[in-house]
Amino acid sequence: MATVSLWQRPARVEADVAIVGGGVIGTATAWALRRLAPDLRVAILEAERLAHGASGRNAGFLLLGTASDYASAVEQYGRDAARQIWAFTAEAFRLAAEVGEAEDVGFAHTGSVIAAASDTDAARLRRSRALLAEDGVETQWWDEADIDDEMGGLGFPGALFVPEGGAIDPARLVRALARLSDAQVYENWRVEGVESEGGRVRLVAEGGGEAVADRVLLATNAFLPRLLPGLSHVVRPVRAQMLATAPAPPTLDAPVYSHEGYFYVRQRADGRVLLGGARHLHRDAEVGYDDATTEALQASLGDYLATHFPTLAGVPVERRWSGTMGFSPDGLPCLGAVPGVPGARFAAGFTGHGMGYALRFGVLAARTLLGESDDALDLFHADRLMSG
Ligand SMILES: Cc1cc2nc3c(=O)[nH]c(=O)nc-3n(C[C@H](O)[C@H](O)[C@H](O)COP(=O)(O)OP(=O)(O)OC[C@H]3O[C@@H](n4cnc5c(N)ncnc54)[C@H](O)[C@@H]3O)c2cc1C
Repeated sequence: MATVSLWQRPARVEADVAIVGGGVIGTATAWALRRLAPDLRVAILEAERLAHGASGRNAGFLLLGTASDYASAVEQYGRDAARQIWAFTAEAFRLAAEVGEAEDVGFAHTGSVIAAASDTDAARLRRSRALLAEDGVETQWWDEADIDDEMGGLGFPGALFVPEGGAIDPARLVRALARLSDAQVYENWRVEGVESEGGRVRLVAEGGGEAVADRVLLATNAFLPRLLPGLSHVVRPVRAQMLATAPAPPTLDAPVYSHEGYFYVRQRADGRVLLGGARHLHRDAEVGYDDATTEALQASLGDYLATHFPTLAGVPVERRWSGTMGFSPDGLPCLGAVPGVPGARFAAGFTGHGMGYALRFGVLAARTLLGESDDALDLFHADRLMSG
C-alpha cells in the first residue's frame, strides 16, 4: 500500500469552511466563497485528485435548462420553476464565460443544437421553442435539410438551435476554479467520517488525519451514499461512457444533444470528436460505481456515428472512458443539511447536467454556507426529497 507523508495529509486541518470533493461543484463553491467572503480560510479535501470524478470525464457541454427539453421541464416542474431554472443556468453560463474568457480553459460560446430523433421528439422541441419564446428566449428552428447543411447530420427530423450555451474543457475549468479560489487543496484525503465536535464539524480521513471547520459542504455528488448511506435516497450512481476520435475535418460548430440527451457529440478545436451516451440502450449495465467501458455500449456509439454523422464514422477512436454521474429522483440537483451534523451540508444529484449548473450552483452553495439568502434555494432544496 502506498504511504502518505504528514505534509501531504497533515494530522489536523483547520478551516472556516471545508469542502469535500474537488469536482466542479466543490471548486465552484470555493471560487464563489472567495468572491463573497475573501478572508475565509477554505480547504478542499479530495479523495483522489482534483477533477478525478465526473467533472474530469464529462463532455464539457454547457447547456441551458434542465437535462430534459423546456416543454418537458414545464410539464414536470411547472412553468415558473422551469423559467427560473432556465434563468439560473443562463447565469451559470454567463459566469462560466467570465472565467472562460479570462482563463485558458477551452471555453467556446457556440450555442447548442438540440436535435430530434423522431417526429414526436421534434414536436416536443417545437413546443419548447414556442414556450421559450413566450418566456423571452429566442431560438432558431432547423429542419432536416438545415441540419445536413450545417453539420452533415442525417436522420434528424428537426433541431432547436439555442444561441446561448457552448463548451469548455471541464478538467481545466476545475483546476482554474481551485486556483482562483485560493483555497488550500488537499488531495489523497478521503473523508470517511462526518461528525459534530463542540459546535464545529469534524471530518475524519481514511488512514489518519482530521479536518475541523465551522461549516462543511459535501460536494461528492454520486459518491455521497458511500460516505453517508442514510442519504442514498437523494442520489444514485449511474455510469456514462464516452469516446474521443483522432482529429477529423471541421464538421460540428456547436455541441449536439440528441435523442432526449441520450446521445451527445461535439468537436473540439483540435478536430477530435467527443461522443457519449447510449445509456438507454444498456440501462441495466450502466449503474453503480464501476469505472469501465463495455464493448456493447461502445458499439452503440459507433452505430450512432454511422447513422447520423457518416463522415465521422471511419475516424479512428483514440480514447474510451467512463464516469459516474449522480442521479436524483426528480432530475434536479439538491442542496441540503446533513442530518444530525449542524453546519454540514451536501450538494448532489446533478443528473448528468452538472456543468450547466456549476458556477451559479457554487454561488448558491456559498451563500447558503455563509447564512445568506438566495431565491434559487427553493428550486433545489433537498427538503423536497427528505420528507417522504
Ligand atoms: C461521461 C460523462 C459525460 C457528461 N457530460 C456532461 C456534459 O457535457 N455537460 C454537463 O453539464 N454534465 C455532464 N456530465 C455530468 C457532470 O460531469 C456532473 O454533473 C458534474 O461533473 C458533477 O460535479 P460534482 O463536482 O458534483 O461531482 P464529481 O465531479 O463527481 O466530484 C466529486 C468528487 O468528490 C470526490 N470524493 C468522493 N468521495 C469522497 C470522499 N469520501 N472524500 C473526499 N473526496 C471524495 C471524488 O473523487 C470526486 O473528485 C457528464 C458526466 C459523465 C460521467
